[in-house]
Amino acid sequence: MSVTVVGSLNEDVLVAVDRLPGRGQTVIARTATLAPGGKGANQAAAAGLLGPGVHMVGRVGDDPAGARQLAALAASRVNVGRVLRTAGVPTGSATIPVEDGTGENLIVVVPGANARLAPADVDVPSVRDARVLWLQLEVPLATVRAAAERATGTVVLTPAPPQPLPADLLDRVGLLVPNEHELVQLAGAQPADRSAAELVALARAVTPGSVVVTLGGRGALLVPRDGGPALLQEPPPVTAVDTTGAGDCFCGALAQALAAGAGQAGAVRYAVAAAALSTTGPGARGALPDDDAVRTGMS
Ligand code: ADP
Repeated sequence: MSVTVVGSLNEDVLVAVDRLPGRGQTVIARTATLAPGGKGANQAAAAGLLGPGVHMVGRVGDDPAGARQLAALAASRVNVGRVLRTAGVPTGSATIPVEDGTGENLIVVVPGANARLAPADVDVPSVRDARVLWLQLEVPLATVRAAAERATGTVVLTPAPPQPLPADLLDRVGLLVPNEHELVQLAGAQPADRSAAELVALARAVTPGSVVVTLGGRGALLVPRDGGPALLQEPPPVTAVDTTGAGDCFCGALAQALAAGAGQAGAVRYAVAAAALSTTGPGARGALPDDDAVRTGMS
C-alpha cells in the first residue's frame, strides 16, 4: 500500500452565468455541468493517474451522485473499497457559479456524507499501513486526528479549509502543505505580498516540522524541519489556461513521489512539474498528467 487519502468527495455543479448574483438577486444560468470534486478525491485522482497503489477513505451518499464519484475515482485508478455509501444523507456537493469572461466564482458547499466520516471509519489497514497518509480538513476534525494517530507511515496535511490546528495533530504531521493564503491564515498574519524569506518565517511560526508552501505560478517553497536552507522550486514554462485544482494535483503528485522514496526536494520538483501541466487544460481533473508526461516536463 503506498498512498492513502482520507477526505472529502463532492459532486461539483458548475453553473455558467453572465454575471454573479448579488445578495437577494436571481440570475438565469446558461448551463450547469456536473464534475467530480472534493479536495480529498481530487488529490487521490491525481495520485492515481501518476501511479498504482492509491486508496481513498471517505463517505458518499447512497444516491446517483455517490455512484458517479466512485466511478470517476475508479477510472483514475484509485481503490475505492473504503469509500462507504451512507443511507439517508446526500453525497457532498459544491455549487459553483462561474462568471463568463472574468472566471470569478462563488462556492457553496453542502458537506452531506462527508460530515459523517467517523473515527471508526479510519481504523482500517489502508490508513494504518500507508507509506503516505494524506489528510485535509473537509471531513470532521476528530476523524482527521484519529487517522493521524493510527498511521505508521508519513502523515501529510493540507490545512484546507484553514482552521486552528490542535497540537496533538501537528505533532503527528510529518509534512504540512498549505497554499500561501492558508499559511498566512494559520500564522494569524495579514494578507500581503511576501518574500520567500518572510514566508519561511511564517512557516516556522506555524510548526517546527517540514512545510511545503505552494505559490501558484511562482512554484513551491520547501521549508525543511531541521532548520536547513529553504528551497524555492519554480515551475517549468507552461501556458496556464485554468489553475482550478492545481493545488490538489500538486498534493497527489507529492504523495506519489514521497511514497516512491524520493527525498523532499526531489518530490517537490516532481509535484511542481505535475501541477504546472495540470493548468494547461480546463477543470480540476481535466488535465491531470500521467507519470511519463511529468518526467518529460522535468527534463
Ligand atoms: P491552490 O490550487 O491550492 O490555490 P496554488 O495556486 O499555490 O494552489 O497552486 C499549486 C501549485 O500548482 C503551485 O505550487 C504550482 O506548482 C502549480 N501552479 C499553479 N498555478 C500555476 C501557473 N500559473 N503556472 C505553473 N504552475 C502553476
